[in-house]
Amino acid sequence: MFVLYNTPEGRGIMETIILHADLNSFYASVECLYNPAIRNLPVAVCGSVENRHGIVLAKNQQAKAVGIRTGEAVWQAKLKAANLVVVPPHYDRYLRFGNLAREIYCSYSEKVQPFGMDEAWIDISFPGRTMDQGYEIAEKIRRRIKFELGITVSIGVSFNKVFSKLGSDMKKPDAVTVIDRDNYKDKVWPLDVGELLYVGYATKRKLNSWNINTIGELADIDAVFIREKLGKCGTILKDYAMGNDYSPVENTQHETIIKSIGNSTTPPKDLCSTEDIKITSFVLAESVARRLREHGLKGKTVQIYIRDCDLESFERQGQLSDYTNISSEIADRAMKLVKANWYFNKPVRSFGIRVTDLASSKGPIQISIFKEENKRFKTMDLEYSIDSIRKRYGPYAVQRAVLIHGRDCGDLSDSTEALMRKVSFNTGEKR
Ligand SMILES: [Mg+2]
Repeated sequence: MFVLYNTPEGRGIMETIILHADLNSFYASVECLYNPAIRNLPVAVCGSVENRHGIVLAKNQQAKAVGIRTGEAVWQAKLKAANLVVVPPHYDRYLRFGNLAREIYCSYSEKVQPFGMDEAWIDISFPGRTMDQGYEIAEKIRRRIKFELGITVSIGVSFNKVFSKLGSDMKKPDAVTVIDRDNYKDKVWPLDVGELLYVGYATKRKLNSWNINTIGELADIDAVFIREKLGKCGTILKDYAMGNDYSPVENTQHETIIKSIGNSTTPPKDLCSTEDIKITSFVLAESVARRLREHGLKGKTVQIYIRDCDLESFERQGQLSDYTNISSEIADRAMKLVKANWYFNKPVRSFGIRVTDLASSKGPIQISIFKEENKRFKTMDLEYSIDSIRKRYGPYAVQRAVLIHGRDCGDLSDSTEALMRKVSFNTGEKR
């Protein structure tokens, strides 16, 4: 986008220049900094190392090279590399390095929009500044991250957010890629359509079924056809493919100081069945989701906490396919974690749910509903409506059907938050 400017220094045309910076193999790189001896070995950061059910949360280049993937079980990963170094995650360290990187970005712009812990958009548009100068700034940032932090970053430089994000993926680690108006057709259009931001698995499958396999083919598709098929989302996707993304870089970094939002409860009666836990998880998920919405946040990782009647406890976590503040998505993910990790051999005394990996619910993340299109939109609208009904008529005005049978688990309701301990387990949240 070009903006006309008229300042005391002069007048002219300002071109939008946006960087997308993506710290490479972020968790694993930070772990290697703290333990340089493992730097040249395949390293996987895994949840619950002691347990067979632990999964790979992140890996370094060496682990990637032998085919280890994020999300696979630790034992599977070890089959691929006998010398695999498995380390537990240290989120405090990642947060620290994420913030240090952000400080560097902020020295080049006031408009820095974090996207998860390891990515950020930086708007460096300035009257008279050219794309070539944008490239020079990206190079400076790349060198500073390496020299000052000891980790590497790949940066995409482009005239919009969607293309700059594609750019940061093109060359890595430790590289800068420019996608400008002269080269985007050559660089972007041959890419698989699934690479485009907001094209999730379901959307990709649909597009493929209509013979749209590359971003170029999406850009070229008949506007009426795509609108008929995918609605407004389809039109926006086509625009993105054509390079017509005008979404601003929002300075949301100060809103994400809250690290996590969670609730836990110790109900009057131990929870003994899947049904008991399911009901409880809906209650907890509803209050967690509501508080996420209040803070204008969404999260991508769900953690559960279980303490049994012998007071032994454990935590597990799993990723969502998308950032969310929808209670049913949080509850469903929590239940999957319960089913995968809890054998109901002992009654549950306390149960908690927490959502981490937070990002602002404003800005472009909202459009990630492309994955399941308008259905998620509707659920989101519904939950916002329920929030306002409860605000006006009290917490019992609307109840989830699953809770009607839940009375014998103790009077669990979103309203009985006095019983629930916010901040509950582990490090807790800053409020
Ligand atoms: Mg990264």
